[in-house]
Order: sequence, then C-alpha cells, then structure tokens
Amino acid sequence: MADLLSVDAARAAVLAAVAPLPSQDVPLDEALGRVLRGDVVARGDVPPFRNSAMDGFAVTAGAAGRSLRIVGESRAGAPAAVGLREGEAVRISTGAAVPDGADAVIMVEHTSVDGDTVTVHDQADTGRNVRGAGDDLRRGTVAIAAGTTLGPAALGVAATAGHATVPCARRPRVALLATGDELVPIGETLPPGGIHDSNAVALGGYVARAGGIVVSRARVQDTAEATRAAVEAALAGADVLISTGGVSVGEHDHVKAALGAAGVQETFWRVALRPGKPTWFGTRGDQLVFGLPGNPVSAMVTFLLFARPALLALQGAPALVPRETAVLTTAVPRHAVRDELIRVTLDGDRATPTGPQGSHVMTSMLAADGLALVPMGDGELPAGAEIGFERL
Ligand code: AMP
Ligand code: MG
Repeated sequence: MADLLSVDAARAAVLAAVAPLPSQDVPLDEALGRVLRGDVVARGDVPPFRNSAMDGFAVTAGAAGRSLRIVGESRAGAPAAVGLREGEAVRISTGAAVPDGADAVIMVEHTSVDGDTVTVHDQADTGRNVRGAGDDLRRGTVAIAAGTTLGPAALGVAATAGHATVPCARRPRVALLATGDELVPIGETLPPGGIHDSNAVALGGYVARAGGIVVSRARVQDTAEATRAAVEAALAGADVLISTGGVSVGEHDHVKAALGAAGVQETFWRVALRPGKPTWFGTRGDQLVFGLPGNPVSAMVTFLLFARPALLALQGAPALVPRETAVLTTAVPRHAVRDELIRVTLDGDRATPTGPQGSHVMTSMLAADGLALVPMGDGELPAGAEIGFERL
C-alpha cells in the first residue's frame, strides 16, 4: 500500500497534465458562468460624464439661503444646452449630466421654487451630490481580471465598461461513460440485481457546475469488446472522458485495458484515499481521462477531488478552493493506510459528519457543505480535533 499516491500528489499529477483550452469571444448574454481569459479593460470612464446623484438643482458652490435664477434643465439622456454662472441654477434629474460651471447639486427637498427662481436651503459644498466621471472605473483600468468566473454583476460591469463580448475559455467537452452490467436507465423498473445509473446524472451535474458541457453519455456492459468500443467512441470529440466503475481488479473490470488499447497513457492508478482508492487517470495527447470508481459516493468525491480541478484549470480558472480548518464535533475512526474524505456540514468553525460515510451512502453527499480529510493513522480522530476541509 505504501506505493499508493497521496491525494495531493495525485492532484498535482492531474493538474500538470492540463493544457488550457483556447479562448473564444462570447456575447455577454451567453457568458454567465464562463471563465474570462483576458482582462476586461474599461473602454471609457464609468460613469462616462459628471452626473447628479439626486433630483434637484445644479448650482455653483455657496452658502444656504441663496435665491438663484433657473436657466435650464438637464435630464437623464438630455443634458442642459447651457452652462451655468454665479447666481444661476439648472433643474437636474438623477443621472443627468451636471452642466459646465456647476459645482454641486442641491436636493429638491432642500429648495423652494417660485416661478423661475429657486431658493436653496442647503449649503452647496463643491462636489456635493455630484458623481465624477470615472468615479467607478477609469478608462484603461482593469475592471475584471482574467480567470474570473463571470457572475451576473461581472456581466453588468463588462457591459458598462463598453464590451458586448468577452474572451472566455472554450467550455471543456466531457464524455461520460458508465460501466456495469447491473446498470439500468433512470426511470426504468429494476430487474433482479439491477440498479439505476445514478452516476451519469450526478456527474453530469457536477460537470455543468464546473463549466463543462456533457457531449456524450453512454452505458456499457462489462465485456472487453464493448468497453473498448465505448471508450473509442467517447474519446472522439471530447476533451475529457470520465468513466465510472470497472476500474478495480475484478474479473469484470475492463476499463483500464480498454483505455490502454485506445492509446491512453496511464499517469496513475490508485490513490491512498477512501472512498476512491481505484481512481485511474491518464492522457491521450491533450485529452484527459478519469477512470473513477463505480460506487456513487466514490465517483462524486473523486470527481470533486480530481476532475473538477482539471475542468477549472482547462478554462484558466483557479483550480483549487482554499483548504480551511474546522473543529470536529464528534470522534471519527481513522483508516490505517488511507486518508479518508468525509462529508461534513459546517456551522461556523465546527464540522460534523453527515451521518454514515459508506461509499454507497449517497445521501451522505446531500447535506454536505465540505469534504474534510481524516488523515490515515491509528485509532480515531477525537472530537475537538482540528480537521482540514475544502468547501463544496
Ligand atoms: P465497480 O467500481 O464497477 O466495481 O462498481 C462499484 C459499485 O458501484 C457497484 O456496487 C456498482 O453497482 C456501483 N455502480 C457502478 N456504476 C454505477 C453507476 N453508474 N451508478 C450507480 N452505481 C454504480
Ligand atoms: Mg462494475
């Protein structure tokens, strides 16, 4: 067992194999969730012109109590035609351009109007209620850094910075392959010994969350020929192949041989990890291939540990979430020679296992906020021990 790779070494090997995918220009309304591949630079000042933060009157700087002549109006989208001199005021709406000559805006609530005269009941300090051009972003500055996953606010910032499209990494194309004679399509009645293929749909969800596109899904029987054919078909047109099951040492495990026959080079097989010991990883050119174990929890955990970082790195996003520490609320047993990834809920800095942690207990993933690592060793990790975790 001493020859098994550690989780960190296996991850490093996966990330070392990643060649980032090319960039493409994506219209903003299709860019939600995509990873930015170049900095978004402000093409102009934001706001583009000096404008009013209030409805009221644009005035020169001065004391309260002045009566000023109203010489025009500046509305949003329709700036005043005139500038403004001492003794004058321009009626102004929120967001409208502050006319030349004006130093401040007095809120309408602090004025009284009589015909074309306005009396201001507030002091006009220079800059009061005026938003400067470039207050938010100066032309030429970086508004959003490369590597950012674009959320709704980032789309808005890119738009206001003058961009209709943004350079994004191509989405990784992912082929999913579920192996096993026992697998039955979801929704169908189970024959004796059959189980529903839950890995395909769960991993499909994780792939989408990591920015990938599932380009093919297949189920294959446990024969050498069928597995070889399915692997070849799945590799065509995919950046990443993720198989589940059939990667252990059983007589009916054909995945490793099929991958070898398809020219996929093994980088590693087996990690000092529970669940997920039989995890296999290899490459064919720039294609990445993950042979994940079949047990549903193992498949999900090893996806999160190894495949998700690879999908993020392919897009130029930070691959790993920071490792944090929490205090364990209850004792957990330790495995002698394998690190164990347990699913935990987090309450402040306290981590509690999500119930039974068997690799078949799929519901242990449901409430999980994080994956916590119980280092291999003797006995148990006691309640109150510090434990490292990664947030999901
Ligand atoms: P294997 O890695 O092929 O030995 O499979 C280990 C366990 O995971 C077995 O109990 C399988 O029935 C189960 N399993 C394999 N593939 C899937 C799948 N796609 N969905 C749900 N369970 C699976
Ligand atoms: Mg199997």
